[in-house]
Amino acid sequence: MLRRRNVLTSLAAVAASALPLAVAAQDKPKVVATFSILADLAKNVGGDRVEVTALVGPDGDAHVYSPTPADGRRLAEAKLVVANGLKLEGWVGRLIKSSGTKAPVAEAAKGVQPLKTAEHGHDHGHTDVDPHAWQNVANVKRYVANIRDGLIAADPAGKAAYEANAAAYLEKLDALDKDVKAAIDAIPRDRRKIITSHDAFGYFQKAYGVTFIAPQGVSTEAEASAKDVARIIQQIRREKIRAVFLENVSDPRLLERIAKESGARIGGKIYSDALSGPDGPAGTYIDMMRHNIRAFSAALSS
Ligand code: ZN
Repeated sequence: MLRRRNVLTSLAAVAASALPLAVAAQDKPKVVATFSILADLAKNVGGDRVEVTALVGPDGDAHVYSPTPADGRRLAEAKLVVANGLKLEGWVGRLIKSSGTKAPVAEAAKGVQPLKTAEHGHDHGHTDVDPHAWQNVANVKRYVANIRDGLIAADPAGKAAYEANAAAYLEKLDALDKDVKAAIDAIPRDRRKIITSHDAFGYFQKAYGVTFIAPQGVSTEAEASAKDVARIIQQIRREKIRAVFLENVSDPRLLERIAKESGARIGGKIYSDALSGPDGPAGTYIDMMRHNIRAFSAALSS
């Protein structure tokens, strides 16, 4: 007990010395995003005015997540919650309810034209909407507008700042979109086929003209069937598909096996549903997209 009090006393001393900073941070509206990609977008729009955290952090899987009591407390303190929607975060509705938070929820994908899973080859019957809309940069412009509007509603005093930040970031997204298109255009058309673990690139496929084939459906929740795996191995051999890509949110073993049995090479690690840590190659949404197109270009062009 005595020890504990000592710790508390020294913590209090630390807190006191850091007081001006701590107070400033406390005054900032807290924004809680469901996963790392949305948190990065919210940081870009919110800038210095807000404090943004993600429930599912770097390299985490937002499809399947078990919220902690700390997540509930963070939501209770939030001024704004940012969620993807499109049935990505099946766990978040219950969490919001049990946290008792009064914060409004900005649905980032609101207004995006949703892709049905059957539109790009896979329908495993467990979902009908593809949630990975952020894989098309044009959709992320919509995300940014929705987050901006959510921030303005939650913190009207910051309107001018949020509008200016969003406008500057939207320009960066326009440049990114051009670069993604140019990178894919430079890959010979007959080589634009990519194997990934789960079906996270339907929107990328539709927007940029690369065919993605995945043994798992649009959620990491369902396992790939032996039949799907055998079908993909045959397809790789038949169509001479060059590379399979490991995803940061998926177990690499299935794709390693597919690569070994089909003769395709491992084209590296790509980031589909989560950013890397800040020191990794995909610490922001823009860096994630640039990393992925570099990996695709390197494996498919040579
Ligand atoms: Zn996914």
